[in-house]
Amino acid sequence: MASHTFTVKATRRLQMVDVTAEVARFVARHAPAEGICSVYAPHATAAITINENADPAVCEDILDALSKLVHQGVWRHDRVDGNADAHIKASLIGPGESIPVRDGKLLLGTWQAIMLVELDGPRTRTIHLTLR
Ligand code: ZN
Repeated sequence: MASHTFTVKATRRLQMVDVTAEVARFVARHAPAEGICSVYAPHATAAITINENADPAVCEDILDALSKLVHQGVWRHDRVDGNADAHIKASLIGPGESIPVRDGKLLLGTWQAIMLVELDGPRTRTIHLTLR
């Protein structure tokens, strides 16, 4: 088993940050014949997803869709710190992904990228990688 932790800086309130290169470097360093790489964000208002980043419009569309589904400022938790929509969106997406590894490489499809989804930025976020 191997692990690695790194941080990602989001500069906007809603933003998807591609972390595929950092995850691929970590996997290449250990290059197991077979395994699973877990990518996990220990946050309540950020998430991890896998989707296309070749056309950046896909990320913008996902963020717009989330905002259309979950409106800002109408929830109980908004009375506490005004970011209930970010908590709900984070739970819809989830805090992590597990990616199969074969021949030392992530089994990602041509159009798949691993992304941190910032939902209450700008903030610096932590990502934990575990390879087993
Ligand atoms: Zn909150």
